[in-house]
Amino acid sequence: MPPESVIGVDVGGTKIRAGTIARDGSVGRVLDVETPTDGPEPLFEALFGVVEQLLGDEPAIGIGIPMNIDRRTGIALSAANLPLVSLDVGARVRERFDLPVGLENDGNATALAEWRCGSARGASDVVVLALGTGVGGGLVLDGRLFRGWAEIGHLVVEADGPPCQGNCHGHGHLESLVSGEAASRAAQELWGAEADAHRLVREAEGGDGGARAALGRIGHFLGLAIGSLWNVFSPDVVVVGGGFGAGAWRFLEESVLAAARSEALRPADESLRVVVAELGDDAGLVGAGLVGFEALDGMR
Ligand SMILES: [Zn+2]
Repeated sequence: MPPESVIGVDVGGTKIRAGTIARDGSVGRVLDVETPTDGPEPLFEALFGVVEQLLGDEPAIGIGIPMNIDRRTGIALSAANLPLVSLDVGARVRERFDLPVGLENDGNATALAEWRCGSARGASDVVVLALGTGVGGGLVLDGRLFRGWAEIGHLVVEADGPPCQGNCHGHGHLESLVSGEAASRAAQELWGAEADAHRLVREAEGGDGGARAALGRIGHFLGLAIGSLWNVFSPDVVVVGGGFGAGAWRFLEESVLAAARSEALRPADESLRVVVAELGDDAGLVGAGLVGFEALDGMR
């Protein structure tokens, strides 16, 4: 009988979410722990801990991590939003549990999940953007997950714009303008230091003009990036997800489409499709599980 599920672990900037994931993307038991931000060893301990608690007879482990990964060596090189550099995550987890382990950038894992099990099912070319603490992204090209960096959050969308977040030294990057953190900064400009992205969306729901204008501006920058990405990849569909992206989508959609259509080449300016992610907060976790199945099947 084929194995039913593997362990997926989605390492995020604020929490580590682990679960048992079936081949069809369905999620079984789930555990959340806070992400330790004081260095690599506490992070490994937390990662090992959640896997140990979940592990029954699952035959493989998949991990999504917000770091760019060297494809030749499998080393996770650096993280924009965590104090981590040069970690051999795959080897450490493999040694500890003696199981096949797949490792993927979290944005790539999210793209894999939305393509296999979410709102981009059946498409052959897909761009996925996940707006959370940072902005992750991934690409499916010619029916395959692109396994390069795909750091779409670090596209320049405003020349010499505001400094990027975390350890990124760039300026005017998508992440500095459309992430949940950027939305929180917009909320703080409106209502003071205690306000955050959740309040921005709540106020927009209540009809607040300032909140809707701030979200419209975020949508504008997101749309500029999507128009440019469309001109490079001509995807069948662009998927917008992540906690903030999915939660704020109905206030972003109009300005996203207007900006994307104004930058996209004809005839895509009329036909381009931008949809909200289906898997919501679980996309990264489901993607990590699918990466675990790829490791099990010898695809990585
Ligand atoms: Zn950046």
